[in-house]
Amino acid sequence: MALLQIAEPGQSPEPHQRKLAVGIDLGTTNSLVAAVRSGEATTLSDEGGSHLLPSVVRYTEQGVVVGQSALAQASVDPFNTIVSVKRLMGRGVADLKGLQGEAVYRFSERDGGMPFLQTIAGDKSPVEVSAEILRTLKARARATLEGELEGAVITVPAYFDDAQRQATKDAAQLAGINVLRLLNEPTAAAVAYGLDQAAEGVIAVYDLGGGTFDISILRLNKGVFEVLATGGDSALGGDDFDLALAQWFLEQLGGEEVVAGESRYLTEKARWVKEQLTERDSVIVDLEHAGQKISLTVSRELFDGLVDSLITKTIRACRRSLRDAGVELDEVQDVVMVGGSTRVPAVRTRVEQFFQRAPRINIDPDRVVAVGAAIQADILAGNKPDSEMLLLDVLPLSLGLETMGGLAEKVIHRNTSIPVARAQEFTTYQDGQTAMMIHVVQGERELVSDCRSLAQFVLRGIPPMAAGAAKIRVAFQVDADGLLGVSAKELSTGVESEIQVKPSYGLDDNEIADMLKASYSFAEEDMLLRNLREQQVEADRLLASLTQAIQTDGESLLTSAEIAHLTEQMGILQTLRDSSDADAIEQGVKVLSQASDFFAARRMDQSIKNALKGHSIDEIEGDA
Ligand code: ADP
Ligand code: MG
Repeated sequence: MALLQIAEPGQSPEPHQRKLAVGIDLGTTNSLVAAVRSGEATTLSDEGGSHLLPSVVRYTEQGVVVGQSALAQASVDPFNTIVSVKRLMGRGVADLKGLQGEAVYRFSERDGGMPFLQTIAGDKSPVEVSAEILRTLKARARATLEGELEGAVITVPAYFDDAQRQATKDAAQLAGINVLRLLNEPTAAAVAYGLDQAAEGVIAVYDLGGGTFDISILRLNKGVFEVLATGGDSALGGDDFDLALAQWFLEQLGGEEVVAGESRYLTEKARWVKEQLTERDSVIVDLEHAGQKISLTVSRELFDGLVDSLITKTIRACRRSLRDAGVELDEVQDVVMVGGSTRVPAVRTRVEQFFQRAPRINIDPDRVVAVGAAIQADILAGNKPDSEMLLLDVLPLSLGLETMGGLAEKVIHRNTSIPVARAQEFTTYQDGQTAMMIHVVQGERELVSDCRSLAQFVLRGIPPMAAGAAKIRVAFQVDADGLLGVSAKELSTGVESEIQVKPSYGLDDNEIADMLKASYSFAEEDMLLRNLREQQVEADRLLASLTQAIQTDGESLLTSAEIAHLTEQMGILQTLRDSSDADAIEQGVKVLSQASDFFAARRMDQSIKNALKGHSIDEIEGDA
């Protein structure tokens, strides 16, 4: 009798065939990495057994330190120790005014207003700092899972705009991580609870972390999570609970004045007490103040009183978001708790009272986002062949173009499920207009000045026509990560122009390439692979342009022997290109370029001759 396959249909492939994919929660306070192992999504710990990696990066003369040991030095070495870098992602210097903690760092401004943090190791962009956190998590995943990573799903807040999403993706690229998908944090939390398996429903995700509060109202409809509303407070979190308790300590110590360094000491003590009170009814804490030792008893009741007004703020934001979403309280089918601060019993009680239903708390609120991301990563890597449906996300903010008078014309509305492509036609406003500026913006407001500027480019070569006669079709494509590409085409002539939108405050490709080279801890094999790819791209480019040139001008400018020789040389490079020897490809490209130089020279001569025959410069440029 033949042996049947042991695994049930639809179950994971054999272990050695599994593609390693992880979920990453890149948090403001803490970051985590999780993976599906033996059918279950779990977060991965470091050697010391801790799952949370404090999102803190410290630059020293010796190198970079990430996590707990960096955090421990934050008060001693504040300028070189970067905390909460997530708040800076995809932002310009102008955006940072008024951001909490901004005063702590020294910024230098680069072209386009992108902020760089000044550290002992040189100027660092927020993207580079985040990349350090991602690298640490990647190393942890490799060590734990013992293999190469196929890719990762990285979570971002639902309200992140294109610039902030792009910055997150850039950070991953710097860390040598292939991003399978960016996923909204609340969506990930809902997935962790399997809520995406339901047919439809409204879900509230209440996320109270260290320094931020986010409330998201989601509607699930046929496998698509629509974000009906997001709200919250970017300066409210567990840290404020610590401050409230530290303030109380100070009052008990009889001193209104804080001695230098003492406030940090007191907030650290407060944090410890707060976390203890989650499990116990009262805690005794020993404090030192002005050379005096004092013991204080803190009851949960007392603590609840101190943080009550802070919790009330979050409840108010919940009410507002429901209103924005146009959803009644009783339509909410599920409430999901996310973030370390939702462990505080008073928070749970108040949330339950408000929504009139018990919130979901079974999955560790610190880990729930990473767990959901891991489940998605596993599906995206192809480990669940037929069973599970792929989850779709939506565009968080509308995308549009600037039209006359500084108005924003929306091309794709927010909450459209992605990936998506949409096009719209525009026309010229002046007689004889031959170029058109395309300005891409994101946001819900009517005026361009109130929206976020994503990119600008110019469509040239529009034939001179009467105003309003030209038909310019601008097409937007948004990929599954919510990232945008735009192209513009004049329909009567087919003149075309396109860009991959790089947000104003992102890094450009060269900057990323330089950083990649500079980054000493970047895995060598990743570097080699990248080099190989670059050489292959180079070879492809040369082969394609030569093929094209021979097609157009071969007959008139080359003898058949010359064509045969070039074709043979091209064949050699093609063979090399398919090998994985970067040096050989580079050499091959050089040889072929030299061998074809004479042809390029003849083409050049020909176009000059043509020009002298009275053709316009424009046409020649168009030919080149
Ligand atoms: P973020 O999403 O901002 O990265 P986290 O979700 O990791 O943040 O939450 C960190 C916050 O959770 C901190 O303020 C921390 O003190 C708080 N926290 C962690 N554990 C507990 C606990 N047991 N009780 C109360 N608060 C806790
Ligand atoms: Mg979080």
